[in-house]
Amino acid sequence: DAPVVASASAPVEKSYIMIKPDGVQRGLVGEVIGRFERKGFKLVGLKMFRCPRQLAEEHYGELKDRPFFPKLVDYITSGPVVCMVWEGDGVVASARKLIGKTDPLEADPGTIRGDLGLHKGRNVVHGSDSPENGLRETGEEELITEGMNVSVTANPLR
Ligand code: GDP
Ligand code: MG
Repeated sequence: DAPVVASASAPVEKSYIMIKPDGVQRGLVGEVIGRFERKGFKLVGLKMFRCPRQLAEEHYGELKDRPFFPKLVDYITSGPVVCMVWEGDGVVASARKLIGKTDPLEADPGTIRGDLGLHKGRNVVHGSDSPENGLRETGEEELITEGMNVSVTANPLR
């Protein structure tokens, strides 16, 4: 077995959370941000953005052979999105729980999609599906301003 090495320099876990065009258009930005704030995660990057087609195709590259892919790219590029980086131990899995299942009709009440959505093709929000993808997605969006000193204390025990 590989030796267990203490990783004092392990990067802080990050999730890329994006409010999709339907969420922005319906005025759900505050609702979505509020849920992550109340949970206690730390917001370290935020911008409103119109996603170019090429970036949308890269972002959803794993799905490029699915029949709904062209419609998905049309949807994501149809209006401004709100891009965020949320940070904290376990943030990726916890955000997926807060967001709920892909299909809002199957998502549990209490989740963002379960409370606020009706259709897979209009499901309000994106969240990274693994810590590795969290780092990749937050990196590719260039959201974290170099040297930014975020003064919000998300977790008072830290
Ligand atoms: P997620 O990780 O829960 O967002 O789901 P996936 O990674 O599987 O799919 C990415 C996005 O593609 C989803 O959030 C949906 O917006 C969209 N999507 C997935 N499946 C379908 C589908 O069957 N039909 C349509 N129209 N969109 C879909
Ligand atoms: Mg996904």
